[in-house]
Amino acid sequence: MSVSGICEICGTGEVRHTCLRCAQLVCDEHFDEDTGLCVECLSDVGGGQGQNPNRVPDDAPDGVDTYEY
Ligand SMILES: [Zn+2]
Ligand SMILES: [Zn+2]
Repeated sequence: MSVSGICEICGTGEVRHTCLRCAQLVCDEHFDEDTGLCVECLSDVGGGQGQNPNRVPDDAPDGVDTYEY
């Protein structure tokens, strides 16, 4: 089973994987096997490893915008 195509990121590498998120065809070098994502999606979701430093659960109830100083 040969896949004819080149990596959509570098444009030179042979396509070896398909990103699970954006379905982009990427080479070995631009695919993260741990997450199944291309490097673009990988950086988009925060580098993996289950860390979301940018996501802070701050669910302030509605209607509490009256602050007294
Ligand atoms: Zn590539
Ligand atoms: Zn992707």
